[in-house]
Amino acid sequence: MKSFESSFNRLLIVSYRLPFSFHQREDGIELVQNSGGLVSAVLSMAERMGQQQGGVATKIHWVGHCDPAFRHIEPSAFENETFVAHPVFMDDAVHKGFYEGFSNDMIWPLFHYFTSYASFNESDFDNYQRANTRFLEELNTLIQPGDLVWIHDFQLMLLPDMVRQLNPTATIGYFFHIPFPTYEIIKLLPRTWRQVLIKGILGADVVGFHTPDYVQHFLQSVSEVLALPTISSRIVLPDRSVVVRDFPISIDFNKFNKSAQEAAVVETRERYRSLLPGNKIIFSVDRLDYTKGITFRLQGYERFLTQNPDWHNKVTFVITVVPSRDQITQYQEIKREIEETVGRINGLFGSIGWRPIVYSYTSLAFTELMALYTACDIALITPVRDGMNLVCKEFVASRQDRQGVLILSELAGAAQELQDALIINPTDTQEVADAIKQGLAMSPQEQEQRITTMQKHLQNHSIFRWSNDFLTAFDEVVSQQPDLETDLSIQPFITAFRDARQRLLLFDFDGTLAPLVDNPANARPSDALKAALRTLAEGSNLVVISGRNRSFLERTLGDIPLYLVAEHGAFLKKPDHDWERLDLSDSDWVDPVRELLTSFVDRFPGSSIEEKETAIAWHYRTATDDDIEGHAIELATQLRATPSPIPLTVIQGSKVVEVKPAQHSKGTVALKIAEQTPYDFIVSIGDDTTDEDMFRQLPNWAYTIKVGPGVSFARYRLARQRDVEALLQRMSDVLVDA
Ligand code: UDP
Repeated sequence: MKSFESSFNRLLIVSYRLPFSFHQREDGIELVQNSGGLVSAVLSMAERMGQQQGGVATKIHWVGHCDPAFRHIEPSAFENETFVAHPVFMDDAVHKGFYEGFSNDMIWPLFHYFTSYASFNESDFDNYQRANTRFLEELNTLIQPGDLVWIHDFQLMLLPDMVRQLNPTATIGYFFHIPFPTYEIIKLLPRTWRQVLIKGILGADVVGFHTPDYVQHFLQSVSEVLALPTISSRIVLPDRSVVVRDFPISIDFNKFNKSAQEAAVVETRERYRSLLPGNKIIFSVDRLDYTKGITFRLQGYERFLTQNPDWHNKVTFVITVVPSRDQITQYQEIKREIEETVGRINGLFGSIGWRPIVYSYTSLAFTELMALYTACDIALITPVRDGMNLVCKEFVASRQDRQGVLILSELAGAAQELQDALIINPTDTQEVADAIKQGLAMSPQEQEQRITTMQKHLQNHSIFRWSNDFLTAFDEVVSQQPDLETDLSIQPFITAFRDARQRLLLFDFDGTLAPLVDNPANARPSDALKAALRTLAEGSNLVVISGRNRSFLERTLGDIPLYLVAEHGAFLKKPDHDWERLDLSDSDWVDPVRELLTSFVDRFPGSSIEEKETAIAWHYRTATDDDIEGHAIELATQLRATPSPIPLTVIQGSKVVEVKPAQHSKGTVALKIAEQTPYDFIVSIGDDTTDEDMFRQLPNWAYTIKVGPGVSFARYRLARQRDVEALLQRMSDVLVDA
């Protein structure tokens, strides 16, 4: 495990639930923390932080919702030797809309792919915002410089950004404990909700998910909803970057492994076994939830019994369902369905001496749970969707005897780690039946081999590693905010540039050399960048290759000895030469195109037409329509269908749709220039769709670099326009130093 050198003073945890109970003692009320995995992880974390600070452990502050019934408890009762609890009280109606409504009735089903269970209710979303604000108010009374704030789960997606707004320099982490679904699911959320939720999460410095899949899904949503670039695993915002990574949550392996031999567990295990003498035991335990796939599981078992009469009387399925949310109709329905299915299977196959299923709707004490984990022959864990699933990890860890078979759903996050389980699809009841048969027949040697491999993994990836890794990521992010966000390896690039004899530099203008602005006439490179360009132009063949017209380029950059390419390759000007026209087509294609663009200007106030010498463009950066991007696509589609005397290219750029003859492009002219001289170094940088022609046409050894978000043919990426400036500055510095 990588050791953690923390620079933080205090740990502030925020989660929906406070992990404490209040015990009445003779001398008052005592705050007692529960024994959950998160508490253990946080405790071990605080211990490390204490060690780093010369053994002085500071108390852990934990902000969480608290039942209004506890309002009367004296504040001193919210503190013990290790923790200070900060209760968040809120109005009942706000809490109901926030927790039961938006969190449990909307995000939970939607993010578990139960889309038809999701209830889209505006007032619930309002209450979700209010409740997150209540958490913020509580947190803000205690946050100090040097604190590390760690926010948890889907109930608090807005909180990271709320904290960031009020505390711009705070260090904030966020961990998402449920699946993060594909963008197609996120797209079901109303536009404003999805924007606010994703922006909310991005207030954090480090965002964690259980699996690499969830990370990819989140990155895709960020790209679709907020169009932000991602460099490696960092989402780049204008002023900072957010690290997004998988941190698979786990369990305290030793606790489960050691408990198997505790006297109470041994005694309970023997009692259970003696109740089912000679029978193989299949075990499952889950909270009552439609995500857990309990009915499919029962159907798989039924199919196994139907197909394998020789196993009748010899196997018992002990299934425990832990009560949860059973005031909600969907949960009541699923409970009824489970109980009917259990009754039907027991009625169909059972006899006086044999009950195929022993069902209970109850929670289990730790000793009972351990006894069942260690008494069973098969753990049958088949959720139809589960962020991680800890039960399967606990089962594996508890098997000190290295016996037992894990049958695990491929739809549980844990399946990505526990490859030595029998992995099944839970909806495929035949596959479940087959896995049960295979599991019951599995040799002790194979069981041992599989369990041992999985135990090794869990020993190496315990809950303590989870929190340690998360907090190491915090320290890295705080100490290493890069000043240049790119996936290009800078040093080899600069060395190749410095050592080259013939260098060609091809740069786009808008969004690359100059920031994008509302009024294109005002776009200018910074003075520093112009100075860098001047240096670069002296040591290289520098080409600015733009969609702009000739006069603009000459006005803006004409004082530097460089090549200018205007109107996407229609005109070329070499230093100390006149403009050369490369586009030789007639302009008889323009009239019908202009007519169509004019109709769009009429329809969408704020948009305008720009007529160039060889092209015509519709600009909509300042148009007010909500769905202007959709209308731009509509225009491009209509333009492509408009008959024309010559082949045309319709370019969908950044807030512009432009039409030009197809015969020339940035690509054709870039290639032409590149072929004129035996260059041994070529770099081409651009942010727009038209730059893709350059990236595609240049030799594949050229450095092609896309600026900003979106798919690209370029080999590398620079996150923002300001990163172009930083890169060009370094290139210019190396020429000055040489
Ligand atoms: N568990 C429990 N009470 C019980 C049975 C199980 O608290 O009666 C615990 C179990 O040990 C595990 C957790 O509940 O740590 C379930 O976690 P999991 O990730 O499997 O599912 P979740 O309920 O979080 O969806």
